[in-house]
Amino acid sequence: MSLSLKLTSAQVQDFQRLVASAKRIVILTHMSPDGDAMGSSLGLKHYMASLHDISNREITVIVPNHFPSFLAWMPGTEEVLIYETDKAKADQCLAQADIAICADFNEPKRIGALGEQLITEKQTRNLPIILIDHHLNPDPFVDVCISYPDSPSASELVYRLIYQIEKGENRLPLAAAQCLYTGMMTDTGNFSFNSNYPEMYEIVGQLVALGVNKDAIYNSVFNQYSADRMQLMGYCLYKKMRLFPEHHTALIYMSRKELYRFNFQSGDAEGIVNLPLQISNIYYSVFMREDKVNPSEVCLAGGSKTKVKISLRSQGDRPVNIFAHDIFGGGGHKNASGGEHYGPVVEAVQKFLDNYEKYFNK
Ligand code: 5GP
Ligand code: MN
Repeated sequence: MSLSLKLTSAQVQDFQRLVASAKRIVILTHMSPDGDAMGSSLGLKHYMASLHDISNREITVIVPNHFPSFLAWMPGTEEVLIYETDKAKADQCLAQADIAICADFNEPKRIGALGEQLITEKQTRNLPIILIDHHLNPDPFVDVCISYPDSPSASELVYRLIYQIEKGENRLPLAAAQCLYTGMMTDTGNFSFNSNYPEMYEIVGQLVALGVNKDAIYNSVFNQYSADRMQLMGYCLYKKMRLFPEHHTALIYMSRKELYRFNFQSGDAEGIVNLPLQISNIYYSVFMREDKVNPSEVCLAGGSKTKVKISLRSQGDRPVNIFAHDIFGGGGHKNASGGEHYGPVVEAVQKFLDNYEKYFNK
């Protein structure tokens, strides 16, 4: 196999130089970690842990809040530190780190209170930071910036980084390969979008050659829902989906009370936003979910007890990240983005109704 060399040699060398002199490494990834967040960070950890020259090093993955249960099977999740529930330990780990690697996010805001701590470490003792990411406009808080917004997943970038470090040799422990495959699979909707170029399948081929069972991984991620989640999905589609056919748009929104009825657990809403895109003539889909404001966000919430997480998806050349940015202070990729609103869900719905026609119009 021969891949094009996407990363510059300076990026690869800077990564190697910083990692070579680090005894304690932390890897951080974004809030509400998804398959790519967990896959890129754990994949990198398993690879680095397999290098002989750094076998005596401590490598810790820290996530801002809990990952969904359908990712718990991933190798290494039992050692992941969760900032929300293990703040003291995570802060200590960050304070002792020689280097921080940020995977699958582009600005400290995307990791909440963990981001504030990271910036404090940067400002007080110049903690070196490496970014490996595929979101637009990376924040200049990092020392080494491996940012490729045209890459469908951060996990693919981690694969490419390792490929270049290993000079094209397919040298990856199976656990790393499983994690990176998971990230590539989930961020492309099981290879149904952003996935139409041959090199992606060369990488998949290499991962399968290393022992990845792609069918088993699909089953572990996508066929593990609870009955509550399936009923929540049915309720969303049957009772809550509003269609705006003239703008090819669908909206589903859920209050906390409704979610409570379905015993909502983190991860249960995953993928629901994609469903309306299965309707012909629906090219934009918006899903809103009301949640309570957690203690670390009180300062942002302006007195509100609730916040709304907004997910947006689209097809083809119809960006939703501009709407996410302008209306809900968020961002993301062209076809998959998100934002937040502090306040009740009906307020977020009204904001959507007041603005969607200007943005969703082709
Ligand atoms: P999801 O809908 O799966 O939560 O998020 C889809 C994508 O939107 C994420 O990969 C991320 O790029 C982006 N995103 C989601 N929420 C936010 C947000 O609050 N702010 C920003 N800047 N991006 C977000
Ligand atoms: Mn990603």
